[in-house]
This record gives sequence, structure tokens and C-alpha cells, in this order.
Amino acid sequence: MAPTPDQLTFTDPVTRYPKVEPPKQDQPEPGLDADLTPQVDHGESTYRGTGRLEGRRALVTGADSGIGAAVAIAFAREGANVAMSFLPEEEEDARHVASVIEESGRTAVLIPGDISDSAFCRELVAQAVDGLGGLDILVNNAGRQIFCEKLEDLSDEQFDNTFKTNVYAMFWITKAALPHLPAGSSIINTTSIEAYMPAPILIDYATTKASINAFTKGLAQQLAPRGIRVNGVAPGPIWTPLQVTEGQPKEKLPEFGSSTPLGRAGQPAELAPAYVFLASPESSYVMGETLNVNGGMPSP
Ligand code: NAD
Ligand code: MG
Repeated sequence: MAPTPDQLTFTDPVTRYPKVEPPKQDQPEPGLDADLTPQVDHGESTYRGTGRLEGRRALVTGADSGIGAAVAIAFAREGANVAMSFLPEEEEDARHVASVIEESGRTAVLIPGDISDSAFCRELVAQAVDGLGGLDILVNNAGRQIFCEKLEDLSDEQFDNTFKTNVYAMFWITKAALPHLPAGSSIINTTSIEAYMPAPILIDYATTKASINAFTKGLAQQLAPRGIRVNGVAPGPIWTPLQVTEGQPKEKLPEFGSSTPLGRAGQPAELAPAYVFLASPESSYVMGETLNVNGGMPSP
């Protein structure tokens, strides 16, 4: 049997992963990777470390599933210890990722809680610093996406909660983390293709993603003289629990990602190398940048 390809194996990106063509499915928020059909690749057997984050200490929000899980696993394979933020309902997914981190010989610090609460955000950073003995990588990746066809039906409550989770939490967590981050540290925010190509049914979500871009580019300039780099990663359509918890209308799921130039949705494992690059010292002259990982959709 041929060995499993890893992220460094020369392959055709069109066929690197099969089209997901997911069946219609629904999960209550926040959703579990464990219950997703088909299952996703977080890099468990496809991400090979090359020593790029040796001894580093990372806090990753939304690290239980999807993109955050792939980032947490890749960071551990590269030599980092990882504090994982997730919601209490996601314990099952979080335990799986933690076990992969530990099998990779690194430490996982599990910190369940709701980041739409400012007090918890401060507590999260304190627990991460305590559990890791410091902090030099922060990945603001947690996010919420609930589609809504008509603005009149978009509740004030949803608008507020999408902003609290996607924008305010990034502000609260970054603010709390800053006093701990030494020169050389890296902050990476997960934005989206939605920041530039907002879907008509994702007004609140897309607006938060444009805010994340502005926050990233402004803060990058403010922190550059302190030796702290701030960058973003903008995923395109990636197969994760976000999509089946009202992120998309159910009838759209079977064709999810097929309209990209590459013709398929991405896997979380395909995002991880972008975060590793931005976290590692090799990107020392890269700041205020957004790496678009989206299957070829034109982006500014
Ligand atoms: P995901 O559901 O696996 O991850 C989102 C995570 O956010 C959840 O696992 C959860 O732990 C966390 N979260 C949500 N609300 C929270 C709260 N109140 N408190 C604490 N944690 C909370 O889905 P994903 O697709 O991997 O999403 C990760 C990021 O990628 C999000 O910012 C999302 O907007 C972004 N993104 C995803 C896609 C895509 O197609 N999947 C595309 C562009 C951007
Ligand atoms: Mg999750």
C-alpha cells in the first residue's frame, strides 16, 4: 500500500482530496466534527512536522474542530505546546485533538468557555499563560456563521452575538494577551473570503470578517515596532461543522465548494501550513498580510 501523502508530498491539488459532496445534514450549534459526514482531515496522519515552532507556546481559539483543530495539530507537530479554547459542548472533539497533540509529544491545555463574554476572554488568556508557562502565538480563529435570507429577519440578538464572537472576542483576547507576548510573537486572525465577496445571506458574518481584516492591518502597524507580527488567513469554502449548523442552507451542502476554480471544497488540513508559516520566524518580514487559502477565488 502506498504511504499516506503528507502536506509536503508532490500531488495534484485537484485530486489531493476528493470532492466532499456532503449529504444534507443538520446539527445544533456549535456542531461536532465527530458527527460530520463525510469526516474531515485535520492532519492527524497527513501533517508532518519540520521543527518550525520548537518550544513555542500557542493559544488557538476554536481548536476543537475544523480549521482550528488542524492548526492545533500542525503547531504540535512543529514543536509547540497548545492551549485550546472551545465551547463546553465540544468536549468530545477537543479531547480527540488533545490526544493527537499528546501523541505528538506535546502538551495540550484544554480551556472550555464562551468567548462572547469579556470576563471569560481574560480568564482564558490567564489560564493559557499559566498552563503553557507563557505565550508567543495567538490564533483568533473561533467564529460563528448563521445564514439569514432577509435583513428584516436578522435579529438584533444574532447580529450582536456574531459580532461578540467574531470581533469583540478577538479584541478582548488580544488585549489580554499583549502584556505576555515577547518580541518575536505572532498573532494570526482567521478572516474569510466573505470579507471581500459577501454572500447576500451572510450579512452579519461577512461584516465581522471585513472588520477582522481592518483590525489585523491596523494592529500590524501598531505592533510592528514591538516585534509582534499580526497577520490573517482568509479561508474559502472549507468542510467543517460551521457549515452544517445553519452556516449554509441545507440544500446547498451537496455542492459546497464546487464553484471554486479548483472545483472542490478545502479540507482543514490544507489551511494549517498557512498558519504555521505566519507563526514561524521564517515570516519575519510579513505583517498586515492576509493569506488567502480558497481554491483560487480572486481576492484583493
Ligand atoms: P468550526 O465550527 O470547526 O470552528 C468554529 C469554532 O468556533 C467552534 O469549534 C467553536 O469552538 C468556536 N466558537 C464559536 N462560538 C464560540 C463561543 N461563543 N465561545 C467559544 N468558542 C466559540 O468551523 P471552522 O470552519 O473551522 O471555523 C473556524 C474559523 O474559520 C471561523 O472564524 C470561520 O469564520 C472561519 N472560516 C471558515 C470557513 C469555512 O468554509 N469553513 C471559511 C472562511 C472562514
Ligand atoms: Mg467545534
